[in-house]
Amino acid sequence: MKLLPSCHDVQTDLTEYAEGTLPVSRRLGIRLHLWMCWVCAAFARGLEALPGIAKTALAPPPEAPGAATDALAQVQLALRKPPGT
Ligand SMILES: [Zn+2]
Repeated sequence: MKLLPSCHDVQTDLTEYAEGTLPVSRRLGIRLHLWMCWVCAAFARGLEALPGIAKTALAPPPEAPGAATDALAQVQLALRKPPGT
């Protein structure tokens, strides 16, 4: 077993590394690699940011501003009126 994993090894194992499910020897190798390799460190930071980005992207939209809510109510009221009134 290699002491220092390759970039491919690190990027393949990052999810398990983040979850803490890798054996200690592999975690240490990845930690050392991340300390020395800015490419994998950036990849790891991007992976760590994903849950927050997904949460933001999947969150329901904020409530409509008051003006939009009022306009929508007026449109709905107009649609309920019988024609010619
Ligand atoms: Zn690397």
